[in-house]
Amino acid sequence: MTVAAAKGDRDTETDADADVDVDVVIVGAGPSGLTLANILGLQGVHTLVVDERDTLIDYPRGVGLDDESLRTFQSIGLVDRVLPHTVPNQILRFFDGNRRLLAEMAPPDARFGWPKRNGFVQPMVDAELHSGLDRFDCVEVRFGHRMHTCVETTNGVTVEFADGQPAVRARYVVGCDGGRSATRRLMGVSFDGTTSSTRWLVV
Ligand SMILES: Cc1cc2nc3c(=O)[nH]c(=O)nc-3n(C[C@H](O)[C@H](O)[C@H](O)COP(=O)(O)OP(=O)(O)OC[C@H]3O[C@@H](n4cnc5c(N)ncnc54)[C@H](O)[C@@H]3O)c2cc1C
Repeated sequence: MTVAAAKGDRDTETDADADVDVDVVIVGAGPSGLTLANILGLQGVHTLVVDERDTLIDYPRGVGLDDESLRTFQSIGLVDRVLPHTVPNQILRFFDGNRRLLAEMAPPDARFGWPKRNGFVQPMVDAELHSGLDRFDCVEVRFGHRMHTCVETTNGVTVEFADGQPAVRARYVVGCDGGRSATRRLMGVSFDGTTSSTRWLVV
């Protein structure tokens, strides 16, 4: 998650508030953006989530959640909706091509309240995070909105979109737009390191 612009102090900014459409624009309706929108919704923060796609991503990518993730879902009041889409205490074993066991992850207990390794079905959990936003009048999700650029202003930031949709003025913009984050590039934040290209099959 990348905070691209953060300006001002709500208590001292009544004039500035008149110049913004929302408090926070979140770019990206993946699990990071949707979780943050639930956190902000609980606080009554006027939030707009935008995503370039027409719907949530409906294919699995992430397959494991840790106990910290479940604690976060608990804090936003959604853990009971998420749990049916998880397999608690999942054991993970890595084999090489000769079926030799390379590593095993089998966390023993739920010492901090939740199982430490949980299999999960990401599209279903993402859908619960999305529907959880129905609880908040102060949060809106707009699909089909590709953030094109962000322009910093005296009061915050103006978020502009690729396909002619009206720009939105916000006090803050948060980049939750995934591994190829355009928000991160706009900020000039580097993404160091290398990754070997590996083919994956997630079922
Ligand atoms: C094969 C594979 C296996 C994985 N396994 C795991 C795992 O086991 N556990 C785990 O935690 N993670 C795993 N991941 C990573 C997992 O997908 C991410 O952790 C998770 O989806 C990241 O969530 P996110 O919300 O940060 O980003 P994403 O889920 O990538 O969501 C980003 C959203 O931003 C939107 N977006 C992008 N650019 C723009 C733009 N300019 N304007 C508007 N919207 C935009 C996209 O449409 C997308 O909806 C795996 C990934 C892959 C590919």
